[in-house]
Amino acid sequence: MSDLSLTRRDFMKQTGAASLIGGAITTTTSFAQRVPDPPGKKLGWAIVGLGSLAINQILPGFAKSEKSKVTALVSGNREKAEKLAARYGVNPKNIYNYQTYDQLKNNPEVDIIYIVLPNGMHAEYTIRGAQAGKHILTEKPMANTPKDCEEMIAACKKAGKKLMVAYRCRYEPFNQTLIKLAQDKELIGPLRAVISDHGFNIGDPKQWRLNKALAGGGSLMDIGLYALQATRYCTGEEPTEINAMEYTDRNDVRFKEVEDMINFQLRFPSGVLGQCTSSYGYYGQNHIRVVGTKGWVELEPATGYTGARLRMKIGPNLTERDIRPVDHFAAEMDHLSECVMNDKEPLTPGEEGLRDLKYMMAIYEAARTGKTVKV
Ligand code: NAD
Repeated sequence: MSDLSLTRRDFMKQTGAASLIGGAITTTTSFAQRVPDPPGKKLGWAIVGLGSLAINQILPGFAKSEKSKVTALVSGNREKAEKLAARYGVNPKNIYNYQTYDQLKNNPEVDIIYIVLPNGMHAEYTIRGAQAGKHILTEKPMANTPKDCEEMIAACKKAGKKLMVAYRCRYEPFNQTLIKLAQDKELIGPLRAVISDHGFNIGDPKQWRLNKALAGGGSLMDIGLYALQATRYCTGEEPTEINAMEYTDRNDVRFKEVEDMINFQLRFPSGVLGQCTSSYGYYGQNHIRVVGTKGWVELEPATGYTGARLRMKIGPNLTERDIRPVDHFAAEMDHLSECVMNDKEPLTPGEEGLRDLKYMMAIYEAARTGKTVKV
């Protein structure tokens, strides 16, 4: 039996439910109950684009947020917006469409705008939102091109408003723990490799994710971005060189405009190598593993909305860490609300989204030319 085929119960049996590794890691099964604070000040949020993510994750996330409340909706479909407004207690006078969006500037109930539109629309709605005097959280990828990102950053700076990219994994404890462990030289030794696979088999060929103008690119821009991010946040470094290879079956009706599979490697200054796959054509992969000289730490699934698992192997000892999950969307929204309330810079500002766009362009260039791209 390979180590990875062990069940969670097997881990417990083999390691003991409270074993210590390197004096740092404990597997436990019970948590002290966290008692929420009494309600404090909450900032008002407008959600722009009422699609799958907004309906299934973001709007329900407000129930768990402590500093954020939904106060406005922006949609091209009035009936859908009214239904959601009734469900989430949004005053119908605060429903806007894409033409009346700019009138948000006259609405003091809205402090922050969350843009949940197709990627190719993030730039326009960020810039218009900043001009309406609101702080902005934009979904990932930040935009289709580095130039768009630069314009978004400039517009928010000019308006004196904050701009954050919705890299929700940076705000949840599984990835946060992975980062700490990846950089713990005492525990896993110096870091040597970050391996990350992200992809799924995409369906409907008519969806915007397969349209170049709306998506910016294929699997890399959508899901491979998680792998790229993982290499950067686990190392805490910026890559210096990138290689890549693409495979896309252009006879597949889904891939007339964007790529399917793109694998890439990154070299980091300390010598760590990142090794990533991204695909719209293979069975679901969602995995990050960091490997040091003395052990490895792995998240699988790594970046889903729920269900993350963190396992580690140090020498012969394989353990799983119990971590209390949080709602990713409530956590990221509260982070920006807090930054606005206390005038702090968000952990994932526009500049972070811009860096990823530049690296993704380098990945495409490396795949196209077959040459290593220095970044
Ligand atoms: P979706 O297709 O379900 O929703 C998109 C919304 O935009 C729909 O309400 C649609 O009506 C609206 N829209 C307005 N103009 C449109 C146009 N011209 N073409 C297509 N739709 C248009 O998409 P989604 O899955 O909700 O993704 C929205 C954004 O959120 C994307 O940027 C995506 O990358 C991002 N996303 C992030 C995560 C995450 O975990 N952070 C997960 C999924 C999606």
